[in-house]
Amino acid sequence: SPLLLEAKGLDVTYVTESGEVPACRDIDIQLRRGEILGIAGESASGKSTLLNALSRLQRAPAVTSAGTVTFHPDVGSPVDLTALSEDELRSYRWTSLSIVMQSAMASLNPVMRLETQFIDVILEHDRSATKASATARAGELLEMVGIPSARLQSYSYQLSGGMQQRALIALSLASDPEIVFMDEPTTAVDVVMQRQILTQILQLQATLGFAIVFVTHDLSLLLEISDRIAIMYGGRIVEIGMPEQLYEDAQHPYTRGLRASFPPLSEPVRRMSGIPGTPPDLLNLPQGCSFVSRCPLALDICRTERPELEPTETGVAACHRSGSSNRDSAADPKEPI
Ligand code: ATP
Ligand code: MG
Repeated sequence: SPLLLEAKGLDVTYVTESGEVPACRDIDIQLRRGEILGIAGESASGKSTLLNALSRLQRAPAVTSAGTVTFHPDVGSPVDLTALSEDELRSYRWTSLSIVMQSAMASLNPVMRLETQFIDVILEHDRSATKASATARAGELLEMVGIPSARLQSYSYQLSGGMQQRALIALSLASDPEIVFMDEPTTAVDVVMQRQILTQILQLQATLGFAIVFVTHDLSLLLEISDRIAIMYGGRIVEIGMPEQLYEDAQHPYTRGLRASFPPLSEPVRRMSGIPGTPPDLLNLPQGCSFVSRCPLALDICRTERPELEPTETGVAACHRSGSSNRDSAADPKEPI
């Protein structure tokens, strides 16, 4: 399907007193119309930084220090979102692009009834809508996420955590967006509610056809819902592949470690291996591969030369040992890393 959003050579830096933190580097990623793109990685790998840069929700001290984020709208010519002013961006935000954050509590306005918030977004997006048609639409949206439309009269604090998160998802769809950016949208709710919300997101996506960029540290969740998954480590994308490929034949040792850290619910319980060691200090990145100190397969070259993303049989990966050579090592190939 056609290209919808494309980041090229994207760098995001946090300008801090202790220095410039390179939180995202050399990001090349494409999102296609209707696609569900997952972004996974440990804490501090740069997932939220990237999501904010792609959605242009980015705030100081983050700056986009290089690269472009090109949006290809349904109608009209492609536009580099990084070149737009805040004012120009406003016409895309909540219309073409919308965002669902981890904490609905922080995103919903506590002193406004849900109805008012929905109507605001709907009227902003659709100038021909009337208050009555907007109210009807708001009710429909709530029902779509399994919340009775009578709840439009509620304030967000009157809803349970799971309901708040679903209301926020409904609100993000009020403008009929082309892309919904979701940053850990189900982390704050329990596992059962998480299932329900994911199912609803997938149903809505299948019905309405928007694309999703879905950020989470939980790779097994992404394996279930994504069309494609990008794996981040130390601010870089280290692998991109389709779920089946990453599940069966991940090329990067970090991807295999992540996968082992979050075994799917369908698999028998086994040792949760995690990944020993800690993420790299972004202010003191090693010269070669950022994963080298934690990698059981590291070679000499991994210490001196940073691996670039290269095509593999299954996608792209940035690993000197990707391909066959990452399996026939002294490390037990059945081990997750
Ligand atoms: P998590 O899973 O914990 O949400 P993440 O993958 O979303 O992590 P980011 O929040 O994008 O990670 O952070 C990436 C890096 O940027 C981290 O090293 C973090 O410390 C740094 N960082 C984030 N926000 C700031 C900030 N406001 N100022 C300086 N550094 C920041
Ligand atoms: Mg985050």
